Amino acid sequence: MNQEKILVIDFGGQYNQLVARRVRECNVYCEIYSYKTDLNQIKAMKPKGIILTGGPDSCYEEGAASCSRELFESGIPILGLCYGAQVMMHVLGGHVCEAPVREYGKIEVTVDRSSVLFDDVSEKTICWMSHNDYIEKEAPGFKIIAHTRNCPVAGAESVEKQLYAFQFHPEVLHTQEGRKMLHNFVYGVCGCAGTWKMDAFVETSIQAIREKVGDGKVLCALSGGVDSSVAAVMLAKAVGDQLTCVFVDHGLLRKNEGDEVEAVFGPNGPYKLHFIRVNAQQRFYDKLKGVTDPERKRKIIGEEFIRVFEEEAKKIGTVDFLVQGTIYPDVVESGLGGESAVIKSHHNVGGLPDYVDFKEIIEPLRDLFKDEVRKVGLELGIPENLVYRQPFPGPGLGIRIIGEVTPEKVVMVQEADAIYREEIAKAGLDRGIGQYFAALTNMRSVGVMGDGRTYDYAIALRAVNTIDFMTAEAAELPWEVLSKTANRIVNEVTHVNRVLYDCTGKPPGTIEFE
Ligand code: GLN
Repeated sequence: MNQEKILVIDFGGQYNQLVARRVRECNVYCEIYSYKTDLNQIKAMKPKGIILTGGPDSCYEEGAASCSRELFESGIPILGLCYGAQVMMHVLGGHVCEAPVREYGKIEVTVDRSSVLFDDVSEKTICWMSHNDYIEKEAPGFKIIAHTRNCPVAGAESVEKQLYAFQFHPEVLHTQEGRKMLHNFVYGVCGCAGTWKMDAFVETSIQAIREKVGDGKVLCALSGGVDSSVAAVMLAKAVGDQLTCVFVDHGLLRKNEGDEVEAVFGPNGPYKLHFIRVNAQQRFYDKLKGVTDPERKRKIIGEEFIRVFEEEAKKIGTVDFLVQGTIYPDVVESGLGGESAVIKSHHNVGGLPDYVDFKEIIEPLRDLFKDEVRKVGLELGIPENLVYRQPFPGPGLGIRIIGEVTPEKVVMVQEADAIYREEIAKAGLDRGIGQYFAALTNMRSVGVMGDGRTYDYAIALRAVNTIDFMTAEAAELPWEVLSKTANRIVNEVTHVNRVLYDCTGKPPGTIEFE
């Protein structure tokens, strides 16, 4: 693709994906590469500009992550952020050392000179910082464009060499005018045209898929989640009924979810494709009987999923392509882009490729962030309730039922969760909260109902706000919503007599319970 692009060179900073996302929000395509990437490879990609990320090292120490002087002499506009800024100065002859005062959090930055980067930015602007080292002296040829109380070089530039440096993090939303600054870099310095738009992406992708697939057969494992749904619809639009979607209902879905998926993708839905729903509920319940350990439950569900899918795939015979809903964060987190450690492998359907006879994988969303996947979904005309579906774990309700999973408990958590979601939506909070759901605790306690003693289960309600799902805080839900939900759950769900609200953040908690 002849797409204009910005490269993010990753020094192991925490916000590398955020940097790329912000650039994409400017309608410019952006990819993340490790700082170890060969300079010739970088040049060959013909980037319109490069952004160097933050990182944990101290650039003046032996063995610290670095980059070559040639990179800065390549003529490509470069913006260094935090560690990236320090490396730039260090390599080009400035002085970086441990700061007498480290800065962490929101800090007031004073703009000293008019710079393209500060176009339309206030003279005093709150920026987010996190550093122990600082640039004591800028490199020759650079001019200081901003400072803070404790940091003489909060921003520097060499307009002539097209090199720019910020000690703060414009990609973090706490930096009030950070978006503007990145926009200024991408348009004002790099001269991008802003051609990365989702409608164009959809059109070219469908065309490319059509050419690739020809008259081949395509198989897709549909989970009902956003990514696999969007991938499936894209394929359906490209190759119609050459596509077969297999949807395994493992009996651990939210209330009515199986039918909702069938309504969209099944024979009565709007798409021309082969849809196979496997009602494998009982198989999963049998396997899960008596199992209480979370990791074992996850494993059993994952393995059984593959077994069921494999059986269906065998019935279909050889296929040419397998579709996966891999998205860009999966690619980065599996260590293929950037510098971050391998967090999880990117086979988001748990090793399926090893079990299916196919020639090639198609991953139409591989370059996209989650919010972009949603935009593509809307572009493709997928119903909003599906597109804005919350993240849902692969093992489903299996890990929202603490301890042993039984069909009765599945119903309890399904009903409670449905009530909770309904009340949240009624209060108009459904798009505002990061993630919310009900879980069934393994605790039974005494209650009183209709003058009689009860000894029943407790439902835990969870709602968190998060930007990136790496950290999260418990949402402060209005009391009326919580009490109404609690009331309804205890009244409407049999064998539940108590409702608790989880106030724990992540860390130390996790978003899910198991
Ligand atoms: N490790 C460097 C410092 O402490 C850079 C930190 C960062 O990039 N956030 O100053």
